[in-house]
Amino acid sequence: METAAESYVRGPEMQLTTKTTHQVFWETVSKFPDRDALVVRHQNVRLTWRQLADEVERTARGLAGLGLKPADRVGVWATNCAEWIYLQLACARAGLVQVNVNPAYRATELAYVLKRSGMKALVLRAEDSRSNYRAILEDAVQGQDLALRDVVYLGEESWDRTLAGGADPGPGPSDCNAVTNIQYTSGTTGSPKGVLLTHHNLLNNGRIVNLGLRYTEQDRVCIPVPLYHCFGCVGGTITCIMSGAAMIFPAPTFDPLATMEAIHHDRATSIYGVPTMFIAQLQHPEFSRFDFSSLRTGVMAGAPCPIEVMKRVVEDMHCPQMTIFYGQTESSPVITMAYVDDPMERRVATVGTACPATEIRIAGPDGKTLPIGEQGELCARGYAVMKGYDQDPEATARAVDPDGWLHTGDLATMRPDGYFRITGRLKDMIIRGGENIYPREVEEFLYTHPKIADVQVVGLPDEKLGESVAAWIRLKGGAASTEDEIREFCKGKIAHFKIPQYIRFVDSFPMTVTGKIQKYVIRQTEIKERHLEKAAGIQTA
Ligand code: AMP
Repeated sequence: METAAESYVRGPEMQLTTKTTHQVFWETVSKFPDRDALVVRHQNVRLTWRQLADEVERTARGLAGLGLKPADRVGVWATNCAEWIYLQLACARAGLVQVNVNPAYRATELAYVLKRSGMKALVLRAEDSRSNYRAILEDAVQGQDLALRDVVYLGEESWDRTLAGGADPGPGPSDCNAVTNIQYTSGTTGSPKGVLLTHHNLLNNGRIVNLGLRYTEQDRVCIPVPLYHCFGCVGGTITCIMSGAAMIFPAPTFDPLATMEAIHHDRATSIYGVPTMFIAQLQHPEFSRFDFSSLRTGVMAGAPCPIEVMKRVVEDMHCPQMTIFYGQTESSPVITMAYVDDPMERRVATVGTACPATEIRIAGPDGKTLPIGEQGELCARGYAVMKGYDQDPEATARAVDPDGWLHTGDLATMRPDGYFRITGRLKDMIIRGGENIYPREVEEFLYTHPKIADVQVVGLPDEKLGESVAAWIRLKGGAASTEDEIREFCKGKIAHFKIPQYIRFVDSFPMTVTGKIQKYVIRQTEIKERHLEKAAGIQTA
């Protein structure tokens, strides 16, 4: 590790792999054919690497049989399930680009992603206990001119037909710099942006996670985080296909009880989660019923990680090598991490240091690297930086500067030992239980309500979720509305986590003399009126 008086660290050198995902997958299949590869508890699926390879091949043939050609885009819109993994690896096998679609999306968001990604096929589950995805899709495609040709419903006749009617997917891709995955993240312009990620991005990130956590084929990784997000499909799938560790999925969406059951019965050695997921397990009335002694390590990431929660996971969940990772979708995602054998203080109180093959610096408002200890924007450079935003060169140029530095929008400080603390956000983003929400996106949606004249959305501190969404609404002259009416309007149209938990009707907004709305005043007022001071004071890493 190289450090100087400036806030700059270059991680250790690492030989970067130039293989493709499918090549790496096959190496693991041939090394460990009979070891556990995939356990999906809610579907009663238990597969060895050899059996998983059979499913992947069958799925790849099915996709090729639909007439999809290398570089075509295939959407996957489902909560965590075995088929998600088959599709992820089958797309990589056939050289298709997988487009992750957030299961919380509703018609407006789905319509946008269908159009923007140009996906030719969409694979989804028609319905589950939370949503009727078929109906949302029907709503989203109405009146749209789309490239979408095939819609395949998991567990239904169209899925069976696809698998039965296969064609040869060809030799598979050999160019590690080809895009293999598009992950949508909320954009500052109010619409989601498709992050283009290559085999090279993802596999080398997986290798780094394996190094950091010391994974081997003996490990069993409990993955309650969503697969549509990088934490699941890179930290989970890619990392495991590289090390031979088994993937264990407890439930379709996060469920604290199912997660603890999975750790206990499937003897997990590693556990992932955003802070709220760990809090939900630690606070669960049945927590003490479970045996966590198989756990060795784990990762908390995705939002500021409270030190006290980290300490409790280490002690009460028997995770001596628990650690924090930091990154974002645009950086594959992991760019800083604490190693499992780092002293405890570094693992619980910082987000770690620069990963191998990664440079990190803290930039001031003028773009120059700041002295150690000063707060500025965390920037990263190296193999991990995305290829760009899909069909959006302007947004890409705003995120990645001409010298190759990705500007994360996160505020951070670097300590003299080269370890970082995340201290805030430059971008106006709310993180509610690990889900990123851009206030602008919620505001733009609320503006479509016929009674709303003006709206301001802010994040408020929340003891359980980290942050929650609050909206101040100015109604049009003479109009009357209620909180319920506004929430009802949002239901089914925007993801549930974006629907404001707190709503206040106001006549005006606090403004500066130059007419700029002071969101921080809205936030302070809400904290005071709603007595959220305790949550606001939570100590964060
Ligand atoms: P996403 O692109 O959905 O993975 O979200 C990335 C954002 O989550 C980052 O830009 C940070 O704001 C936040 N984040 C991720 N990991 C951490 C962490 N360990 N501590 C604090 N914030 C984090």
